[in-house]
Amino acid sequence: MNGMSLSPSRLDSAFRDLTCALGDDAVLGPGSDLSAYEDPYSFGMADTFRSSGAVLPRSVEEVQTVLAIANQHGVPLWTISLGRNLGYGGGAPRVSGSIVLDLRRLNRILEVNEEHAYALVEPGVSFFDLYEHIRERGLKLWISSPALGWGSVVGNALERGLGRTPYGDHAAQIRGLEVVLANGDVVRTGMGALPGADTWQLFIGGYGPSLDGLFVQSNFGVVTKLGLWLMPQPDGLMSCRVRFQRESDLEAAIDALAPLRRREVIQSNAQLANILHQAVGCSPRDRWYGGSGAMPGAVLEQIREDLGLGWWNLHFALYGEESMLDARFEIVRRAFSTIPGAEILGQKYLASGADGLYAWEVERPGAHLAGVPSLSALKVLKFLGEDCGHLAFSPVVAPTGREAVKVYTHLKARAYEHGIDYVGNFTAGVRHLHHIFLILYDRRDAEQRSSAFALFETLVREMGQEGIGEYRAHLAFMDLVGAQYSFNDHALRRFNETLKDALDPNGILSPGKQGIWPRSFRIERSR
Ligand code: ADP
Repeated sequence: MNGMSLSPSRLDSAFRDLTCALGDDAVLGPGSDLSAYEDPYSFGMADTFRSSGAVLPRSVEEVQTVLAIANQHGVPLWTISLGRNLGYGGGAPRVSGSIVLDLRRLNRILEVNEEHAYALVEPGVSFFDLYEHIRERGLKLWISSPALGWGSVVGNALERGLGRTPYGDHAAQIRGLEVVLANGDVVRTGMGALPGADTWQLFIGGYGPSLDGLFVQSNFGVVTKLGLWLMPQPDGLMSCRVRFQRESDLEAAIDALAPLRRREVIQSNAQLANILHQAVGCSPRDRWYGGSGAMPGAVLEQIREDLGLGWWNLHFALYGEESMLDARFEIVRRAFSTIPGAEILGQKYLASGADGLYAWEVERPGAHLAGVPSLSALKVLKFLGEDCGHLAFSPVVAPTGREAVKVYTHLKARAYEHGIDYVGNFTAGVRHLHHIFLILYDRRDAEQRSSAFALFETLVREMGQEGIGEYRAHLAFMDLVGAQYSFNDHALRRFNETLKDALDPNGILSPGKQGIWPRSFRIERSR
């Protein structure tokens, strides 16, 4: 659906007014270089998700001005913080012709509070920025970073991004938002509504309904400040690896892992990755296999031998004082040692050690377990050469071995049918698994692009019928994924639409995000 017709004259007037109000250097109109707002992995659908320009306000007041102009001309905006949402659409809008509301210039770190362990940041702050800020001041705090550290703290938390420390469920760390509503009103959630309160980032509740969640994966407002809990630097960290020898160990591995997460013996998102997931960052695919179709099992075995991997490879860290690390490791060791052939390794690093924890954080591989941002995950995107595209199919699965095997078996079979390698991991939250299936394809190859697209679509529908849904999706699949959440004839969608129409009657804020469309677009769709 392309939504309401966006006449060139309406857009021209909007760009003229934006330039007049914010100045030339805050507006990228038609004819400007808009490559930063293109989706690098668009399956040849770039025109379906093409912006008409961008506006880069410098303050909350300028955000209000932009919203007023968009309302006046009925022009849709697409809000981004840094637009690095790779694999999900990057900085590109759901509705072609939208003006990107790029918040990168709101880039202040407003507060980092060491005593209470939180930060208050604006949308343009990247994980690298926040990390450097903390390091320069020698604060005893850790951030949690997703695989790539160049994205924004705000955008990632709002999209329910994941990191690998005990604070790795980023949306769950949000403590207080400032939001500009479509009508220009500025709202602070929770305790932030109380003038003079010093508890905005400490207590999520406030008085009345909790609203923070309303602005997560949502198009109900523009977030201009976000509070986030940070982790007090622990006294020690133990990097743990468990290698399982057989493909069929998946069931036992998950059944051993789930209670350890539930009881929080393992305190962070533990990642159980298959052979290829471990290998994709090491060298290009053609080092191992030059044939067509998905890699045969014998080649996988060869990779496993060459790289000294398990069939399944579990990686996580334990945190705390040395005695706590030892006690936790012993429980973990006992749990996994019941699985024949499982190899269990642990390496301790203590803050009081010779080079301290800081040196470890920066220099050792796996530093993301200490929240250190990096770009090393980009290596994955060289697997199929310079033009390797990726798309993450990420269903939420109950943490039992039986469910994990069911989903894995199905995904792998469908991947092979489509000639695509199965590159996957199960990331274990406290009481759920994210099954991240990384669909890698050659962007230049039309056949591979359409296979990747068809595979994703099939999986959403088939998993949906099993009651298994994705936690996040690329622009092209937002409607389809949203449609699976259909209890009571789509009551959730109706509820979201009711909120959308009340909060944003002209439908200017990110129409179509997460499958939530404003009234004007719904009317057009039904014609
Ligand atoms: P990052 O650069 O961290 O990867 P993006 O800026 O691409 O993140 O944001 C990811 C998505 O989150 C955007 O597509 C948008 O839908 C939403 N988003 C990002 N920032 C905001 C914000 N400040 N207010 C509301 N939604 C936002």
